[in-house]
Amino acid sequence: MSLVIQKFGGTSVATEESREKVLEKIVNAKKQGHQVVVVVSAMGRKGSPYATDTLIRLASNIGTKDMDLLMSCGEIISASVLVNELLEKEITANVMTGGQAGIITDESYSSATILKVDPSRIFDLLANDIVPVITGFQGISQLGNVTTLGRGGSDTSASIIGEALDADAIEIYTDVNGIMTADPRVFPRAKVIDNISYTEVFQMADSGAKVIHPRAVEVARRAGIPLYIKNTFTDDSGTIIKNTKSTPKVLDGDRGNLITSIAHINNRVQYCLEDNKINDAKLFTELADSGVSIDIINIFPNKKIFTVDEKYINKVEEVLKNNNVNHSINKDCSKVTLIGERMTGVPGVMAKIISALQNQGVSILQTADSLTTIACLIHTKDLEITVKVLHETFGL
Ligand code: ADP
Ligand code: MG
Repeated sequence: MSLVIQKFGGTSVATEESREKVLEKIVNAKKQGHQVVVVVSAMGRKGSPYATDTLIRLASNIGTKDMDLLMSCGEIISASVLVNELLEKEITANVMTGGQAGIITDESYSSATILKVDPSRIFDLLANDIVPVITGFQGISQLGNVTTLGRGGSDTSASIIGEALDADAIEIYTDVNGIMTADPRVFPRAKVIDNISYTEVFQMADSGAKVIHPRAVEVARRAGIPLYIKNTFTDDSGTIIKNTKSTPKVLDGDRGNLITSIAHINNRVQYCLEDNKINDAKLFTELADSGVSIDIINIFPNKKIFTVDEKYINKVEEVLKNNNVNHSINKDCSKVTLIGERMTGVPGVMAKIISALQNQGVSILQTADSLTTIACLIHTKDLEITVKVLHETFGL
């Protein structure tokens, strides 16, 4: 008998009809003889009555500790409703909060770090043939306060529980057929990737592909547990993420696909400082001290260009003002990242990107690269054409 973690996202638990599909997945896994541990997100997306965003707006004056408690209610509601429906199907199930499931975190409200997991209460339920339905996205601090794990945190809950239980598989159920070559909302002709390495999915997630949270990928990789991304609403086999043997550098002409996928992230803002009197060390230390995380940066003797998430605009402006730095700003930008383990050391990828985008009249505002990624900053108005043309150029 194997042990499977099944995590269901917001759209999967949103309505009675969608939960009917969730119940089918759980019932089928049980019928196949698996032990099942379920992890759920809050119901629906932005705008839904019990979605996390809706809860946050109910009380704007409360402190961070109480806000985490409020935010944790969404998953408690969806877990309770799902348990109720499992019982109707004569499957014994119990709700467990993150704390009851043994997830212990630090005290960093809204983005807590998991310190340890004590899975004994989960094992107790399983031993009694009870399906634990665990609230994702949350844990309990060492002082006993409810904490939340940050956006996408339910994916992390699933992986961390999988690791603690030494599960045989972690299945992430969502509203698309698996990990795709690009976000289907931006490029509807994107294709499902059948199997892919942890490293590449981590890069995708870290570059903005929100189909899975990067921490969840990292934990599954560390535990060596295969991670599946599947559609709640279909029977497609989905994507399997596991360690792939590193592809040998192939002879000329047969490199296969250099690029596996394209990820993007919106809400980027680019700052351009043209001033040769700046004390760089002081400026960038002050930015770091005020909590600004820099996405892309290029430093030249008389020029510094850096890109941040637009949520940091106020902090950046304040630091620049305090340092009397002249600057220009490019708002409404997106970063498009090409990911591929096989492009390491292969020349000409950037040249291909530049030609393809130039032919479409898309301006590249800044670039960044690593061994396995190349990123271009563009105006958000060019996002769809950029993803489309790069998808075609690299034969995805
Ligand atoms: P859930 O609520 O189930 O966690 P999310 O909205 O967090 O769902 O993630 C699923 C969404 O991720 C999809 O609807 C899709 O628009 C988006 N997405 C972004 N990049 C990709 C990709 N490369 N492959 C699949 N989906 C992607
Ligand atoms: Mg998600």
